[in-house]
Amino acid sequence: MGKTLLQKVWDAHSVRTLQTGQTQLLIGLHLIHEVTSPQAFDMLRARGVSVAFPERTYATVDHIVPTRDQRRPFADELAEQMMAALERNCREYGIRLSDLTTDRQGIVHVIGPELGLTQPGMTIACGDSHTSTHGAFGAVAFGIGSSQVRDVLASQSLAMDPLKVRRITVNGRLGPGVYAKDVILEIIARLGVTGGVGYAYEYGGAAVDRMSMDERMTICNMSIEGGARVGYVNPDQTTFDFLRGRPFAPSGEAFDRATEWWAATASDADAAYDDEVVIDGSAIEPRVTWGINPGQSVGITEHVPALVAAGPAGPPAGSEGERASIVEALEFMGFEDGAPIKGTKIDVAFVGSCTNSRLSDLREAARVVSGHKVSAHVTALVVPGSKAVRQAAEQEGLDRVFQEAGFEWRAAGCSMCLAMNPDRLDGRQVCASSSNRNFKGRQGSPTGRTLLMSPAMVAAAAVAGEVADVREILRG
Ligand code: SF4
Repeated sequence: MGKTLLQKVWDAHSVRTLQTGQTQLLIGLHLIHEVTSPQAFDMLRARGVSVAFPERTYATVDHIVPTRDQRRPFADELAEQMMAALERNCREYGIRLSDLTTDRQGIVHVIGPELGLTQPGMTIACGDSHTSTHGAFGAVAFGIGSSQVRDVLASQSLAMDPLKVRRITVNGRLGPGVYAKDVILEIIARLGVTGGVGYAYEYGGAAVDRMSMDERMTICNMSIEGGARVGYVNPDQTTFDFLRGRPFAPSGEAFDRATEWWAATASDADAAYDDEVVIDGSAIEPRVTWGINPGQSVGITEHVPALVAAGPAGPPAGSEGERASIVEALEFMGFEDGAPIKGTKIDVAFVGSCTNSRLSDLREAARVVSGHKVSAHVTALVVPGSKAVRQAAEQEGLDRVFQEAGFEWRAAGCSMCLAMNPDRLDGRQVCASSSNRNFKGRQGSPTGRTLLMSPAMVAAAAVAGEVADVREILRG
């Protein structure tokens, strides 16, 4: 019986099995940022412990970084303190830092792959939920909390519960105007936001095989929104081509040797899975969330759930808890019972976040807005995921396309994904967002409302002033 990639990578990094049944897992790469690391470093200091492998640790600044005015000290005192703490900690412990003075700064899940730090067959940890992004390269990558950041800093290892593997095969060819974001929203809608608890998700099938690394990252990024600790795609030629020539990727003969090992980490053809799900990619349409978790989404031609209109025992089927969560979501979002999602008025359009702020995302959004104007009542912003993405986009003239349409062109950072910086919703504003979470208050206002969708769909909504079907704009 063959092995899955998860089993192979897990076995290769297993230090020992602990009495608890957990595995002490060696961590190949530890990515840190300014929000979840200060406490961890303080805990190390309090115990007089040093960083075990500073050369396996890499830092960047993203969450609190202002995207408009980046002069120091920052206007926000707390943000300035976090930034200063990270700088001090990196200096003291000899950790490389991509700060605002370098051209390598950006969202941690964008710069890791961009720099070639993220490689197949690795174990990667970071104090951020969306670390699963790196699984796009065939790495086993997961988010951790501050006390685990401390553990990895001190020992370069973690106590981890074993994971089952669910194979998710997406067959067929995605239609025009349908993107990786739509695929992952579809997967989470089908399997639920807790459906992946205890699992690693392995994505494959013809539709995934055809995807670029950017698209695979979008899918893996949101694995955690489906409850899966880890999401990955088996490494292939697309992966190797992406990595060749990256600053931290091996070069010359070492690259060829690495490619052999990387290829060998892919799941065997006869690997056994704990569960398998097959989805027809050609049947997926552009999706939009209508609720307060990423599992609550519908296709652009569909309607939000109809609870009242369908009667007290009406759809959707499910537990009382599920029904209650739908009622809560519809009330919070202010949707009419069974209303069409298309035509929902928006106030803000946000293209950015570690899910969808890479060059290909910006290209697709620019393709949609080109020759159009942002609707008069909409505030629209594009926030590239890294300085490198920003620079590459400017070289292609994408900044001009966005600005001519009426978008603001910002500096790299997490921005409005979670509003730990000046970019935030105001009151009950509705935001068409390419980010990954639509929880209540996620974008800074306790009553603000988030509609998750692909960057191209955000662009279409910005132009229309309401949720629109990007396929109609692309058809011209
Ligand atoms: S963009 Fe959002 S989800 Fe991604 S790292 Fe930043 S805050 Fe976290």
